[in-house]
Amino acid sequence: MSWTDPSRYLEKIVVESSCAEYQITRTIIERAGLPVTIVDESDFPALVDGQYPDNLSQGKKTLLLCLNRSEFLKKCPATREYRCCDYQVINVGTGCPMDCVYCILQAYLNNPYLTFFVNKEDLLSELDGKLSASESRLMRIGTGEFTDSMALDRFTHLSRDLVHFFAERTNAVLELKTKSAFVDNLKGLKHQRRTIMAWSLNSEKIMRTEEIRAANLEERLGAAAKCASWGYHLAFHFDPIISYPGWQQDYRETIRKLFAAVPAAAIRWISLGGFRYLPKLKQIGTSRFPHSGIYHHEFIEGLDGKQRYFRPHRVQLYKVLYRELISYADPSTCIYFCMESDEIWQEVMGFVPGDKGGLPAMLDKTMAG
Ligand code: SF4
Repeated sequence: MSWTDPSRYLEKIVVESSCAEYQITRTIIERAGLPVTIVDESDFPALVDGQYPDNLSQGKKTLLLCLNRSEFLKKCPATREYRCCDYQVINVGTGCPMDCVYCILQAYLNNPYLTFFVNKEDLLSELDGKLSASESRLMRIGTGEFTDSMALDRFTHLSRDLVHFFAERTNAVLELKTKSAFVDNLKGLKHQRRTIMAWSLNSEKIMRTEEIRAANLEERLGAAAKCASWGYHLAFHFDPIISYPGWQQDYRETIRKLFAAVPAAAIRWISLGGFRYLPKLKQIGTSRFPHSGIYHHEFIEGLDGKQRYFRPHRVQLYKVLYRELISYADPSTCIYFCMESDEIWQEVMGFVPGDKGGLPAMLDKTMAG
């Protein structure tokens, strides 16, 4: 079955009573055409029957519209031990209608339902204040930390507001990262190339077996090609790279299809990240997805407490993908590791980020390309 738009999985909307009268709440309800219930905050724990995480598959059918009462913009929770890209994340909601076997949110969150924050005006005014206060530096900002950036866009149209907002900024760039292929709302917008449309990619076998209700490769690349034709810059994330018999050929094939589908010069960055997970995710992932073999491998605990493949194996995975990518990539595209050590950079790419001013500077430079 094709899942270009994972919002089709939703079956009902629940609205926190304090935001029932917001115009955006009414508009989302109208677009979704799903049954609606109004509840108080004290009712949240009973929205979905059963215990977390066993009720996660069922919970992903419920969308709660509520208010974010804390800050929207935060630093990406990177760890000091590895090279990070100095990213900021806007918390627009939590949870995702797709269901990846390796999804870290299964271990981070403790609610099975999806949430979307309807106080959009608060979000835009906070962003305005924070961007105005740091005009001297370029901020790279994404929305896909606790959710997928485009999974609910058919209902929320949030992408349109954000694209318009960032088009007016010279010191920030927005990255909308997704595994869906729903990009209809991006057509015809005046984006000034301040929004980068990004897709997570994997081998087709991993997409098929471990990324449930996500768009397939052809659909993701088709959506990316549409965005490129509308003038958007693109980015791709090979994360998590997963080892299994035959991975080399499969990842090479994905890379070949990527560069056959989109213009190389439109791609601003491509990241690589080996499969890694918090120890408690293994128990959740193996019990929810007993068919999956991704946790049945040898792992070592990294400096951040996450399980990772042994270093020689990570190097082997990265070398195959990096060599393939570099043979197609435009010179202006930054290929980088998400959360890896200088030793890995040196061994695979032959340099460390510090040689080029640091990873944030390498990424900022691509925006001029
Ligand atoms: S698409 Fe992203 S957020 Fe959604 S389930 Fe998969 S990994 Fe999690």
